[in-house]
Amino acid sequence: MNTAIDKMSALSLAAAIRNGEIKVREACAYSIQKIREEDPKIHAFLTVSEEEAMKTAELVQARIDAGEVRSPLAGVPIAVKDNICTKDMRTTCASRILENFRPAYDADAVERLRAADLILIGKTNMDEFAMGSTTETSYFGATRNPAAPDHVPGGSSGGSCAAVAAGMVPLALGSDTGGSIRQPSAYCGVTGIKPTYGAVSRYGLIAYGSSLDQIGPVAGNVQDCAALLEILTGKDERDSTSVALSHTAFSASAQRGVEGMRIGLPEACFGEGLHPDIRESIYHAADLLRSAGAAVEPFKLDLVDYSIPAYYIIACAEASSNLERFDGVKYGYRSESYTDLQDMYCRTRSEGFGPEVRRRIMLGSFVLSSGYYDAYYLKALRVKARIREEFTRAFSEYDLILSPAAPDTAPLLGSSLKDPLKMYLSDIFTVSANLCGIPGISVPVGTDQRGLPIGMQILGDCFREEQIFSAAGTCERLLEAEGRAVG
Ligand code: GLN
Repeated sequence: MNTAIDKMSALSLAAAIRNGEIKVREACAYSIQKIREEDPKIHAFLTVSEEEAMKTAELVQARIDAGEVRSPLAGVPIAVKDNICTKDMRTTCASRILENFRPAYDADAVERLRAADLILIGKTNMDEFAMGSTTETSYFGATRNPAAPDHVPGGSSGGSCAAVAAGMVPLALGSDTGGSIRQPSAYCGVTGIKPTYGAVSRYGLIAYGSSLDQIGPVAGNVQDCAALLEILTGKDERDSTSVALSHTAFSASAQRGVEGMRIGLPEACFGEGLHPDIRESIYHAADLLRSAGAAVEPFKLDLVDYSIPAYYIIACAEASSNLERFDGVKYGYRSESYTDLQDMYCRTRSEGFGPEVRRRIMLGSFVLSSGYYDAYYLKALRVKARIREEFTRAFSEYDLILSPAAPDTAPLLGSSLKDPLKMYLSDIFTVSANLCGIPGISVPVGTDQRGLPIGMQILGDCFREEQIFSAAGTCERLLEAEGRAVG
């Protein structure tokens, strides 16, 4: 195992591959070895595609040797969340119902990774169908937090974030419907961004809440995260909501400062219920941004409290419709014993879906049923529109909004699912971005007294990823200069 690879960023690994110091084969062998050593403790991976990865490594090496470098991350190993389709490679959504599902095609995001010569190492654990905040609803068992193995890594992209945090891969893809990239990034001490809705194609992402879902990158630092997002974005005709961004110089932006930027701190996000160490770390990061020339001030952002009920109604409504297709006929698991078609549907879905997914399908069907549609679903859509107006108003004053990514640091394994409502409430800071379609990043800004990582969320208006990266990069540089432990 080439130990020089230990602690290398994705971009520096790619540079070492380009100048011949490290072979692509060595980079992959390193990741595979690290997975063998670490993953029995962490359980971040559901599938490791060792053979295919080593084969691809040789092809990519041959291209690089011939002078054909397809991207700044060519040759770098990457893990992909298991709700993103990979051709002929098991894609389970961490559900029994898709336990043996092998897609016939790659997701658009995966096609882009392959075209950029990244090496797909395997698929990562998650909450079943991305429903959850801890990665404990996985049919295949929970993932552990590398910073503290008796704690959860967050969710639903807990496997992707834990894999990066433990150094098993330098990069991963996650998906974010209500915080599933940002919250586990915060809990694990890595950097992850949910891009503007439509910036990354959802083609091949197994849908949870289609109007909220976005694929995004998870990385060990801001610069790597920016470089990966550059590869993922782009118009895709196969997803009608996909858009071509006009401002995509994320890497260059991540090196820029924040001079003259106006940044708002919503008072409602720093009140009661917030872990004091989180408040302190974010205020400190805000001070650093001030020292770098940004105007940072508190302001009033209304309706924050309504984002959770609106989100859970809309997400469950969409999930109940999206998950209708898993009926034992077209995909995956089918119950072994049944009397007729109706009974087959019923048994297949009861046996194939776990309790959290069943709860959400029932809740979603209820809010869409006649008599309740207006009272719940339609009202939630109206609340969503009001929240969007509130953010539009905020972005007329501020370029960016800072908040915690979560009210607390990673909870202990086994402590969250007992009280699902409390778990839902912990998504308070992340869900608004999905309701509004706006981009948001989580960057590590410190640790609590027990050493658990703290993440700061930076939100921008639609298509303002560049500014987000400038602020995130500035924070990272200044914190590093101070020598603070940030996860
Ligand atoms: N925790 C939220 C939920 O359970 C968000 C999940 C996600 O973003 N996929 O719905």
